[in-house]
Amino acid sequence: MTTSTVTKSVPFHVPSIGEEAIRAVTEALESGWITTGPKTKCFEESFARFIGVRHALAVSSCTAALHLSLDAAGLSEGDEVLIPTLTFAATGEVVTYLKAKPVLVDVDPVHFNLNVEDARRKITAKTKAVIPVHFGGHPCPMHAIGEFAVANSLTVIEDAAHAIPAKFRGQNIGTLSPLTAFSFYATKTLTTGEGGMVTTNDDALANRVALMRLHGMSRDAWKRYTAEGTWRYDITEAGYKYNLTDPQAALGLVQLARCEEMWRRRVEIAEEYDKALNSLEAYRTPQVAQDVQHAWHLYVVLVERSALRIHRDQVIEELRQRGIGTSVHFIPLHLHPYYQRVWGYRGGEFPVAEDYFDRCISLPIYPGMTNEDVQYVIEALRDISKQFRR
Ligand SMILES: *Cc1c(COP(=O)(O)O)cnc(C)c1O
Repeated sequence: MTTSTVTKSVPFHVPSIGEEAIRAVTEALESGWITTGPKTKCFEESFARFIGVRHALAVSSCTAALHLSLDAAGLSEGDEVLIPTLTFAATGEVVTYLKAKPVLVDVDPVHFNLNVEDARRKITAKTKAVIPVHFGGHPCPMHAIGEFAVANSLTVIEDAAHAIPAKFRGQNIGTLSPLTAFSFYATKTLTTGEGGMVTTNDDALANRVALMRLHGMSRDAWKRYTAEGTWRYDITEAGYKYNLTDPQAALGLVQLARCEEMWRRRVEIAEEYDKALNSLEAYRTPQVAQDVQHAWHLYVVLVERSALRIHRDQVIEELRQRGIGTSVHFIPLHLHPYYQRVWGYRGGEFPVAEDYFDRCISLPIYPGMTNEDVQYVIEALRDISKQFRR
């Protein structure tokens, strides 16, 4: 198929921004509060209620949320933090912000989450924390990770960038560990364009995050320009500039109200993909554990080499030629030049993540997809599986 014959296109992702969101952001802009203000406060309260957690602290990104969480956990120079190699850059880089060492761990071969057995092998006297990533929105085995953390005196900080709304054994992600970091990046299941949130049930951790996210200034410093606020503040620590703004929070509030509805649509799309693709030998569809609610941020198929004579890269190219956008999540961290040069990692060290990476394709899955879009992607995959059958 040549590009000129493409009649349809299905982008990898389109954010779900409707009239209501546009109106809400416009109102926020018109209100005069264009930085952190009452809307942000309201978004935090709504998010905390939605998750069922004591504290939700809005920040500028999940990267900021992870950084502040590690700071609040008391991480310091020379400490080690266990993270899966199959993750985004942010999970690892934040560890280095505190002059600590990211220690990579392989993933499990079913859900591609942190492999607790491998994590156990990587423990040293310096290990202080573990950052499980709920990969694609499939929750990690938090009971096993919790036990492992207690046994080794580690703080658990969940990277929940993919996990809204997700549950482990009936409990919302964001309530299970001392600290959880969420992302509201453009492509995530709940977006504010850029944004993030830290959730915690611990008052002291919440106070530390609140302090450090805005210059280490005494609490509620954002109120200093309001009637109830005061011009006086104390700088008690050298903090960061990680606050969320009210126009972003206004968008977040609309997204939060639609979170369940948007999730239901992604579930439908995942079910359609499952139904159609399970009958094709060329692709392995995602497995879902019995005791979780999957957020379906990603729908990842693995190319079965035994049934298809072309490589994943060529499948992506075939889809592209049919107007279908896909992505690859992620290139494992240990295969990147930085991790090899600075931390001495090499290809071949994490076989499960590498095999996954060699075969994975993230398909489009977002509420704005029509049934026709979903069928178009399915038909393209069927077509490719026939054309390149081994
Ligand atoms: C997107 C993402 C992040 C970073 O989120 P930002 O809000 O862009 O900082 C962190 N971890 C994972 C796994 C992600 O996919």
